[in-house]
Amino acid sequence: MILVSACLAGIPCRYDGGSFLYIPLLQLVQKGAAVPVCPETACGLPTPRACIELHSESRHAFDAAGNDFTFRIQGGIDSVLRPIDTKLLSAAVLKDKSPTCGSLHIYDGSFSGRTISGMGLFAERLHSLGIPLFTESSFLLSSFFSFL
Ligand code: SF4
Repeated sequence: MILVSACLAGIPCRYDGGSFLYIPLLQLVQKGAAVPVCPETACGLPTPRACIELHSESRHAFDAAGNDFTFRIQGGIDSVLRPIDTKLLSAAVLKDKSPTCGSLHIYDGSFSGRTISGMGLFAERLHSLGIPLFTESSFLLSSFFSFL
């Protein structure tokens, strides 16, 4: 089983109320080969919601007004993973640049549009569990995708 960021499967859970549909990932969900998850909405954050970025040094997730959502999002990650036997996860395909799901890049926390190399909070947790991570782009190019 693989996990996918819910917004990549067309679920409108992004902070701006939109999604980021990747048809091949939606097809995997429809086939039952992938499970869509969104830690930010799983913790009860509304959609739409304030844009959140991860501070590069503190690793805390703030909105532009300085409200700290770190522990709330960590709670969402816990609730997403609780019903899942993570030993059965073969990969996760996560929306890059998100403070939660980004696995290669994240915004740098300055709300200036600059990105840096780094992982969001969910990607970091899955990485610590040894689960291979893909972005929406790298997954479609991977040999992994051709086996599903
Ligand atoms: S937390 Fe992840 S799944 Fe949810 S909207 Fe952000 S990128 Fe998409």
